[in-house]
Amino acid sequence: MARLDITKKLAVLADAAKYDASCASSGAKPRKDPVKPGGIGSITGQGICHSYAPDGRCISLLKLLLTNHCIYDCLYCVNRASSDVQRARFTPEEVVQLTLDFYRRNYIEGLFLSSGIIRSPDYTMEQLVRVAQLLREEHGFRGYIHLKTIPDADPNLIEQAGRYADRLSINVELPKATSLEKLAPQKQAGTIRKAMGGLRLRLDEAEDERKRSRRAPAFAPAGQSTQMIVGADGEKDSDILASSANLYSGYKLKRVYYSAYSPIPGSSQSLPARKPPLMREHRLYQADWLYRFYGFAMDEVVGATDGGMLDLDLDPKLAWALRNRQRFPIDVNTASREELLRVPGLGVKSVDRIIDIRRLTTMRLDDVAKLARSAKVLRPFVTALDWTPGASLDGTHLARAVKRPAEQLSLF
Ligand code: SF4
Repeated sequence: MARLDITKKLAVLADAAKYDASCASSGAKPRKDPVKPGGIGSITGQGICHSYAPDGRCISLLKLLLTNHCIYDCLYCVNRASSDVQRARFTPEEVVQLTLDFYRRNYIEGLFLSSGIIRSPDYTMEQLVRVAQLLREEHGFRGYIHLKTIPDADPNLIEQAGRYADRLSINVELPKATSLEKLAPQKQAGTIRKAMGGLRLRLDEAEDERKRSRRAPAFAPAGQSTQMIVGADGEKDSDILASSANLYSGYKLKRVYYSAYSPIPGSSQSLPARKPPLMREHRLYQADWLYRFYGFAMDEVVGATDGGMLDLDLDPKLAWALRNRQRFPIDVNTASREELLRVPGLGVKSVDRIIDIRRLTTMRLDDVAKLARSAKVLRPFVTALDWTPGASLDGTHLARAVKRPAEQLSLF
């Protein structure tokens, strides 16, 4: 087989990595070394910056696979053993060189590194750890590192990975164990959950150690995340959201990423021929957001679905409000923060602004509308000094009246 140069490998392995959505660097703090301050990528004050492509994917990290060779044959994956794609493999030193080159040119703030399974889970994990170790120890790199971990790998390797990386992730892949069994026969849901549980315990321990001593070594300070593929099997949004709620509460995940299944050339007949609508992925992110930042229980979010599917035409908060009209209108001048967070059209920042402003003045509808995403959506659900929605809240056409016109997707 012809050997590829590093640029060609980059083209193959950056493209192969695009299917992994779990790479945002939110929540990361800059790495500080109390003994040797400074170092490459040591951003002060601001933490790690991140930005998103219009479809919500992070674009500020160098996102790569170490290799797209894989001994597993997950049917939904373009890199599976039986897939007919061009293969490439970086050495750890090549990934290090690329990361430093991109960093110095100010293209990236860090590295997201995943890999197909080569030889064995342990061997693969060793190679991933080696990259992070070289970056941190030989090159003093203090930028963000997110490593994908292999669930079956030796816990000692995971321990080393956590010492060098800011974030670790283990993909649960599919919301139901039965789907995983069918589509990824070499993976076991139990092993994945066990690895996530082990990581959670280690993260808790590290947090305790840091409380006792600020000099205790960091262990994956940006926590763990995971990715779920949406639309590869017949799972409903309610299944996906139930699985996410379980992951957040049981494993203290920082993020669950939802990635719409992409049909791949020559894929199995047991997979759908078409990609699910991107809006489905977007609605799942919105529902997830309601659970994490708006005080909604997942049961409430799921209760506002149709047969377990989120409405593609209405955002989940509006869908919930329309089904719970007896809880509205809410008085913007007296309502609690929790109540205001449930008003369609108001985000967390708007609610906090309202609470600040109303200490000084009684708010009119116009004052609130200036802070809302859409006055049209907000109006039927609130009262203000000069406004009450009257009977419009009960109107049968309310859903149509407040629906937002189709627009370019963005994440909140
Ligand atoms: S183990 Fe990962 S890279 Fe390999 S086939 Fe499965 S999903 Fe793809």
